[in-house]
Amino acid sequence: MHSDLEQLLILQDREQKIRQIGIEIETVPLRRKSLEAQLAASRASLEALKHRTRQVEMDRKKLELDVGTRTETISRLKTQQYQTRKNDEFQAIGHEIERYENEIRKIEDEELELMVLADKIKADLGDEEKKAAAAKDSIARQTIDLDEKSKALDSQLQGLAIEHGVCTGCHMKVTTATAAQVRAGKEIVSCENCGRILYDAA
Ligand SMILES: [Zn+2]
Repeated sequence: MHSDLEQLLILQDREQKIRQIGIEIETVPLRRKSLEAQLAASRASLEALKHRTRQVEMDRKKLELDVGTRTETISRLKTQQYQTRKNDEFQAIGHEIERYENEIRKIEDEELELMVLADKIKADLGDEEKKAAAAKDSIARQTIDLDEKSKALDSQLQGLAIEHGVCTGCHMKVTTATAAQVRAGKEIVSCENCGRILYDAA
């Protein structure tokens, strides 16, 4: 049989543990909320990056079309140039062809820039996807953690409480006198069947 002091220390230790678990259980939903916010932010930037990817691709296609129309114009001008017999007209068409060729070079430079940008967005997208996956994993782990801690707290409480005159540790009915002592809460009372320290769960 434990001395009163020993029982008091055991009780104190258990109460501390219960309090710690209780505090953790209170903070886990908050932590989960913050992770969910992170996940939502991550998803939003994923969407923004995907949107940006589509836009860059559209811009690039437009530039390709611009090159296409200029190439057609150049070949038309070349036919005209071939057909003309006037020297000044031949030269004027030549200048025009040159102007279109310069434009094409500029557009191709822009295309190159867009391709570099597309590569950068693709890399960002990869990073963001990793972040989103990590946040998701973390939430799953914290959820399991929360469940386990809730269960641990439940079993801690079950081992100690007295409910409707029954010790929840051994499920035996305690005497009326013991139940009254527990309710009074003035001294440390043990279950006469299993020896667990009892308190009033109600
Ligand atoms: Zn008991």
